Amino acid sequence: MSEHIHNHSGDCCCGHDHGHKHDHDHCNCGHEHGKEDSTCICGHDHKAEGGVGHDRSMGRVFFALVGGILTANSFILNAWLPEQEFAANMSALFGAFILALPIIITAVKDLVRGKVYMNELVALAILAALVKADFQTAGIIAFFLLVTIIIETRTASGAQRSIEELIKLTPNTANLIDEKGNEREVAAQDLKVGDRIRIRPGENFPVDGRIASGESTVNQASITGESVPVEKVAGEDVFAGTQNLTGAVEVIVTKVGGDTTLGKVKEMIMQAEASRTPVVRIIDRYAGYYTPTVLMIAWITWWFSRDMNSVIAFLVIACPCAVVLATPTAVVAAVAAAARLGIFIKNISHLELASRISAFVFDKTGTLTDGLLSVVKLQGTEGVSPAELLSCAASVERFSNHPTALAIIKLAEEAELELDEVTGFAEVHGRGVSGTANGSICRVGRANWMRENGLNVPESDPEEAAGMSVVYVSKDDKLLGWIGFRDKIRKESQVLLSDLRRLGVRYCAMVTGDRQSVAEEVAGQLNIDEFKSGCLPETKVEFVENVKRDHTVAVVGDGVNDAPALAAGDLGIAMGAIGSDIAINSASVALMTNDLRRIAMLIFLAKKSQVVINQNLVFGMLFVFGGMILSIVGLMTPIWAAVIHAGSTLVIVFNSARLVRTGEELTLADKPDSEKQVS
Ligand code: ADP
Ligand code: MG
Repeated sequence: MSEHIHNHSGDCCCGHDHGHKHDHDHCNCGHEHGKEDSTCICGHDHKAEGGVGHDRSMGRVFFALVGGILTANSFILNAWLPEQEFAANMSALFGAFILALPIIITAVKDLVRGKVYMNELVALAILAALVKADFQTAGIIAFFLLVTIIIETRTASGAQRSIEELIKLTPNTANLIDEKGNEREVAAQDLKVGDRIRIRPGENFPVDGRIASGESTVNQASITGESVPVEKVAGEDVFAGTQNLTGAVEVIVTKVGGDTTLGKVKEMIMQAEASRTPVVRIIDRYAGYYTPTVLMIAWITWWFSRDMNSVIAFLVIACPCAVVLATPTAVVAAVAAAARLGIFIKNISHLELASRISAFVFDKTGTLTDGLLSVVKLQGTEGVSPAELLSCAASVERFSNHPTALAIIKLAEEAELELDEVTGFAEVHGRGVSGTANGSICRVGRANWMRENGLNVPESDPEEAAGMSVVYVSKDDKLLGWIGFRDKIRKESQVLLSDLRRLGVRYCAMVTGDRQSVAEEVAGQLNIDEFKSGCLPETKVEFVENVKRDHTVAVVGDGVNDAPALAAGDLGIAMGAIGSDIAINSASVALMTNDLRRIAMLIFLAKKSQVVINQNLVFGMLFVFGGMILSIVGLMTPIWAAVIHAGSTLVIVFNSARLVRTGEELTLADKPDSEKQVS
């Protein structure tokens, strides 16, 4: 694992946890990983840091408290018991020592490793004050630095904390039911796929599974961000970390640990936290030059002014915590806010990208429409009954989860049809399915795919199929007929498109594997610039590539057949990703629900965080450079420098924290047709 530690940015004095373990191949920051240890002045080796961030920050709080009290004590003694000068000095000396120790140790460690980074600046400032025997100043500088670190770790190690929150969602134990029907308690981590467990009302699901018996309502807000309870009956999927509300259910385990949707979500948060934005990469790159430059200016200042206080102030204020934190704090807050809404952003750079999106390409079925198709026509060829047509189609479609397949299966179930045994099932994405039943090959799929397979399908679609989606059914080389479907446009589609335009998206297109007449109808009802029907997965990719020439493109799909198109866009957004590995894996942003308004929220949040980042950067630089100039000309005392340094960091942390509550209204009232709008 140690080779795969994403850990190149140990150059700040911010106490931020920079060294999350994560897989090398997920990282696209273009830096070498794992060669150096992170060296924040919290004095810890971040490699070891797993879920124990709180212990470390407690240690820092302790140092800061004890040292702070001693330093304060020396001031009090000075003020009220001036004759106790020795005691006051001792108090200041020990205070400074305790406060400075963690900072100096880290700086020394850095030096030993041959790295010249910002930690040395502060350490040097403190040392200079100590050498001057100005223990109070040294203590105060170190105190404010520690406080900065504490505030920062508490507020901004958001990923760590959201993961801890997620871990709390899954119970440690589960009630396993053995073959004899007896129930016994086991550790949740010992559950295996195929185990049968019982979950009572009020309990959380420990793993992903399928309900075998019983029914209940489930609150899936922890994953989807939607607190409206969902009804679940036998055969439906339940997810680790969601809460069982009303009924006792027995569940067959389908996924455990990191394979569960919650596990994937955790992984995504870790990845996002470990990834870096371009701005941070630039700061990383120049960090190596920054410290020597500052040291040189400090030396020149001293040479001309011989004023040690100016130099100390300069060194303290030159430590650019505020600038270094400007981006990560905002981004982590935004990613956390998004996660709360069931929007999972895999890489932080995707957030920056999302703020620049100028074009959207939507899939139709399951994305702009709700994908809950219903069969409206069963048209057999001569001598073929609708029941025969349906039974043949449903036998093969049983193994697919395409919206058309689901509609066919549903109807066959309602009609209580006997289905045939099928062997050799195969699904050709975006085309159709095939399998062998009773010795003959059955195919269900689109017209031109049937033709490719040598079937005689009429060139033009039957007239009565206008406005319907159509699939053809064949047995061996005989066409059995066609099935017509209808689908509904999602209620939020219209709102989404107008919201996106308001957010500055200039072009919205739709691609679909469906027929021209259906595509026309949907495009007509929505405010769409361009659409393309009859697409194969690869035609969708081509379409996206074309739009990409003039735009930064986001592709939205349901992730079932759309993985290649999602990957082709600058940003791939998968809908309804809860429980769908393909959707989660193929996209750069995974929406756990099918609520389209989340997409506008994502763009809104991305833009807002960009504004916050820019504010932070301007503000941070103003403080650092302004403070440096004031120090050089002798207008800054070391203590003021320390206070301003801590203050500016605080301002940035709080400014970023504004993002955390974005979009809260979406999680509260979750009626997709509500008039609530982004902005
Ligand atoms: P869309 O772009 O509308 O989401 P897809 O790319 O998923 O459509 O599929 C395109 C077409 O391929 C469908 O309209 C349907 O005719 C056919 N098709 C895909 N999968 C299946 C399947 N499992 N059964 C029958 N037809 C299918
Ligand atoms: Mg689709």
